[in-house]
Formats: sequence, C-alpha cells, structure tokens
Amino acid sequence: MMFQPEIEAMPRPQLEELQLHRLQSTIERLRSRVPAMASRLEGIPAPQSLDDLVNFPLLHKADLRDSYPFGLFAEPRENIRRIHASSGTTGKPTVVGYTEADLGMWADCIARNLIGAGCEPGWMLHNAYGYGLFTGGLGLHTGAERAGISVVPVSGGNTDRQIMLIEDFAPQAICCTPSFALTLAERLGAEARNSSLRVGILGAEPWTSAMRDEIEERLNIVAVNLYGLSEVIGPGVSCETARRDGLVFAEDHFYPEIVHPDTGERLPDGEVGVLVLTSLTKEAFPVLRYWTGDLCSLTHEPDADGRTHARMSAIVGRADDMLIIRGVNVYPSQVEDTLLEIPNVSPHFQLVVSRTGTLDEMQVRLEGEGIDPSAVAAKLKSSLGVTVLVTVEPAGTVPRSEGGKLNRVNDVR
Ligand code: ADP
Repeated sequence: MMFQPEIEAMPRPQLEELQLHRLQSTIERLRSRVPAMASRLEGIPAPQSLDDLVNFPLLHKADLRDSYPFGLFAEPRENIRRIHASSGTTGKPTVVGYTEADLGMWADCIARNLIGAGCEPGWMLHNAYGYGLFTGGLGLHTGAERAGISVVPVSGGNTDRQIMLIEDFAPQAICCTPSFALTLAERLGAEARNSSLRVGILGAEPWTSAMRDEIEERLNIVAVNLYGLSEVIGPGVSCETARRDGLVFAEDHFYPEIVHPDTGERLPDGEVGVLVLTSLTKEAFPVLRYWTGDLCSLTHEPDADGRTHARMSAIVGRADDMLIIRGVNVYPSQVEDTLLEIPNVSPHFQLVVSRTGTLDEMQVRLEGEGIDPSAVAAKLKSSLGVTVLVTVEPAGTVPRSEGGKLNRVNDVR
C-alpha cells in the first residue's frame, strides 16, 4: 500500500522535472537568506539540469558546527516551530530547525514509510525511539498520527516496563533500534513469537540482513529498515517497504547521490560510496550536497509495487568508521555478518581494539552456548584477513541496548 500513490509512483520524467525546479528554489533560498552559504556558492551558475549539482561544493558536519547554533537557518527564528539536535558525542551538537511546513513534510515521509511497511490506519504503534532532542521519537510520533495510527510514546529505556506495555496494550507495530528489538526478544524469551507485534520499523543504527533474519524469527514480525539523519530531516529519508528490497527515498524531498569516498566524484548505480543528500523542499534548514559519511549504493529501477523513487542498499559502514587493524580495513558490519553465520553465537557482541607496543589488537567479546573460540577466530581471520582474539563470555555480560544507539566498538588505542 502507498500513502501518497500519486507522488510515490510519479513517472520519473515528471519527478525529475519537479526535483530540478525545487533544487533551483532551494539554491536561490540559500543564496538569498543564508550569508554563509551565499559566499560558498558565489559564482556557481544556477543548475540547468540535475547533473549540474556536481558543480556545487559538498557540505560537511564541520561546516554545520562552524555556524552553531542557528547560523545556517534560512528562516527568521520566530518562524521555527521545532528544534532538534544530533547527539554530538564530542563538543557541541549539530542543531537543526523546522518550520510548520517542514514538520508537515516530515510527517508525510514517515506516514509513507509506515504504510509501505504494512501498517494500517487504526493500528497501534509502540514508539520506543528516544523522545527529546533526538529526532527518532517525535519524528515517528507525528508521522504515525498523520497515517491514522495510534502512538504509544514510550521512548527509550526501562525494558521491563516496555514489555508490560506491549503485553497490555497489544500494539501491532513497534519502532526502535534493531539492537533494542533484540533486547526485547531476549527478555520476552519463548513468549516473543506470540506477542501482538506484526511489523517492526527499525533503524537509527547499522544492522545486517543476518540480524534482520534473527529479529524476524525471534519476534515473528516483518522488520523493515528505516534510515535518516537529523541534518537532513531525521528518520524518514528512506525506508524499506514490506518487500524489503532496498530503502525507498522520499525523492520529491531529498535528492540522493553516491560519491567516491576519496575523490568526491559521482558514482553510478550499484557502486558503493558515500551517500550525499540535498533537501529539495526544506524551508528552515536546507542542505545542499550534505556528506552523510554513510556508505551504500543506489538503484533508480522502480520497485515491484511501482514506486519510482530511487532506492538505496542498507548502509554497509561509515566512511569514517572504518577500523584499520594492522593496515587492514575492517568494518564492524563485516564482523557482525561473519558472527551471525555461526550457529549459537548470540547477536550481542563487542569489538575491543587496543594496541600493544606498535601492534593493533582486536578482541571480539561474544556470548553463546558451546562455542569454540578458536573456530570463531579462524572464521573471522579468513573473512577479515586479520588475526582476532575471541573470548566467549557468560550470558548477559556483553553490553546490551536499552533503547538508544548501541556502540559495538570500544577503541582504546
Ligand atoms: P545522532 O547524530 O544523534 O546519532 P542522527 O539521527 O542524526 O542522530 O544519526 C544519523 C546517523 O545514524 C546516520 O548518518 C547513520 O550513520 C545512522 N543511521 C541511521 N539510520 C540508520 C540505518 N537504518 N542503518 C544504518 N545506519 C543508520
């Protein structure tokens, strides 16, 4: 099902015409209303085609920090209806703002995601994304209301209480991080498959298809992947449908490009590179060619239901997340993929990277019954190309998600 079929299945030539028109207005808005952007864009001719976008400079997170807090807003402060911010583990957070129209557009995007995932008007959604400055909680909240779905605004944390509410309220859908979905499955135990839940809209952190299989099996749900970032809008930039064949963009609002991580050159469909996003309709905080740092590939083929908007693969890593272990590039998602192929390894694991003298060492802490650490180490060595120390720890000792994003890597170098 589609929430806005006339937009979601719009013929591509018409969609691209709309995108070009909106791109031109976005650039004009930035030039006329945001002095810091006007100087960056000086002398670059207005785009005559979507391909001309490559003439514009990439925008990085550091550029947003330089204008902290409101320096890149394109609307006067009193027209801003909501502020969110990214967690910013170091230093100041990145602050973003929304006008009323921006909030309405965002709600539409999320409503498309929920209906596409198989949720129905009249259903109930257990919303375990964090409420507050983080975009997840409130983003899903207003989108669900827009789609005619009742929201239980639980937010993150307190797993026992969440389980009680799921048992008592019987929601059909849940949204949370994939790691928290696993925590719930673990706590619910044998009962997990019998809960009222049918659909999970999971995201905000990387996860693999092996982890999806595990979540779907344990919770007996269809689990779709939801992607977004606060700088662009929050969750709802792209999301899988119930078919789970790529995350469909809201391409009438966000224009995606894939660029080479080192050269910044635009890459064709199917090639993995950094996702760069341009907002096409945002009023308060338009972004032009924002470097997400997230690695994935694109396809512009319509999906099996007739949606014409571009789709992306799951995020395979972050350009700045790559670990270099003794000169070998390792992404945490590769470790996860390998571990999940091994029977009885619990999906809870942690990577600890340290240095003895000049040598990097990587330890994988995991849990599971009757596991031979040296067999796991051999498997990791063959898939990653680096020697890894594997320790099997007592059940419950590896850090779990309590609802927020889980950091699987502890780099103590
Ligand atoms: P914060 O900065 O507070 O963590 P954001 O929502 O801005 O909050 O974080 C966005 C980042 O989260 C993305 O750039 C991406 O790295 C990650 N992310 C979000 N959704 C997904 C997803 N479905 N798969 C993989 N990574 C994701």
